[in-house]
Amino acid sequence: MKTVENCLFCKIIAGEIPAQLVFKDEAVTAFYDLNPQAPVHILIISNTHTASHLETDDTTIYADVLAGAKKVAQQLNLTDYRLVINNGTGAGQSVFHLHVHLMAGRPFAWPAG
Ligand code: 5GP
Ligand code: ZN
Repeated sequence: MKTVENCLFCKIIAGEIPAQLVFKDEAVTAFYDLNPQAPVHILIISNTHTASHLETDDTTIYADVLAGAKKVAQQLNLTDYRLVINNGTGAGQSVFHLHVHLMAGRPFAWPAG
């Protein structure tokens, strides 16, 4: 587990900033998004800090966040959900601690708008 100062999500992992947790284990932390874009909107983050998808080659982190998203889906009995990773401000990334968005509870268009 590697944390950095002044990272909002590292502070959530450390319990320094409150969040509505779904679960936390050795590898990942999952919690409800403060500004949900769907009836169910959960963020899954590695307990090891990395800024973005592009900025890490750590395949353990990739595996952990995707496996974590599946645990969330199973825990909440979700069978229809969308997973999103925003990389870079131009793609909507606003918090630079890699995270997967899990959204569910409404229809999602494809192609995405
Ligand atoms: P991004 O835009 O970087 O892909 O996603 C960051 C997400 O974090 C956004 O959906 C935003 O609503 C959420 N967020 C920002 N600050 C907080 C916070 O303090 N607590 C929680 N639970 N979510 C947050
Ligand atoms: Zn962090």
